[in-house]
Amino acid sequence: MSDGIAHAVLYAAIFLGVVYTSRILEKRWPIAEVSRGEFRDDWLAVIVSVGLENLLAPLAAISAGAIATYAGVGWIKLPTEGYWWYVSLVIVVVVLDLYKYIFHRLQHAVPFLWAMHSFHHSANGITFITGGRHFWLERVLSDAFLPIMAILFRIPPDMAITVGFIFFIPDACAHLNVRIPLGRFVTWVNNPQWHRIHHSVHIEHRDKNFAAFFPLLDILFGTAWIPKPDEYPATGLVPAERVDIINSVIWPIRHLRHVRQRESRNELG
Ligand SMILES: [Zn+2]
Ligand SMILES: [Zn+2]
Repeated sequence: MSDGIAHAVLYAAIFLGVVYTSRILEKRWPIAEVSRGEFRDDWLAVIVSVGLENLLAPLAAISAGAIATYAGVGWIKLPTEGYWWYVSLVIVVVVLDLYKYIFHRLQHAVPFLWAMHSFHHSANGITFITGGRHFWLERVLSDAFLPIMAILFRIPPDMAITVGFIFFIPDACAHLNVRIPLGRFVTWVNNPQWHRIHHSVHIEHRDKNFAAFFPLLDILFGTAWIPKPDEYPATGLVPAERVDIINSVIWPIRHLRHVRQRESRNELG
């Protein structure tokens, strides 16, 4: 077997193992009931978006390559000898988390970005797979036009893989439909209860808990809502929207049309 196929089989096995484990946990200690229909919609949305992103990835890579060549890559060369490897890793994680936090706040504040990001928030039931539910063009555009980390840092491949793994735990696992009583540790690392507040239907939770890794950023920038031990709100857009395959591809058009219809109804009313 060639190396490429062996890697593909290994990654597929890891992916299936993680998905299967998440399902066992979600059935054993669920936060909320998620209907079969919601769960299926979520999976279809993820398959469509990941498929389109991969299809367009070569185009995004050409654009990112051109921008990085123009701006120059690896402005900051982090030391990687001995224990410096770990120091550099911490620096990259902290800077990347800050970047993710700022970008996430812009996604909620800038109408053009919210028209796309609202797709992630359209999930009515949140499960592990919701972590992959993003509007396809959103990731293509950010990959194509914002190769910020490549411009900023020159890091070895093993560190890049470690960073990806480190962010997978809080970022993807924050969507697990699993009740984990963290007590006062709820503000330490992003987790299902912290992130559920961000997806909440309640007005008091709006624009709260943006953090991808460290909730400390929300606390520092005044966007933290520290959940009470039993605070697990209902999630989704208000009013709730059902998204099929076609709508997942044309989401911003559909979303903006809905917003406009609501506004004109309010004006008439
Ligand atoms: Zn958001
Ligand atoms: Zn989310």
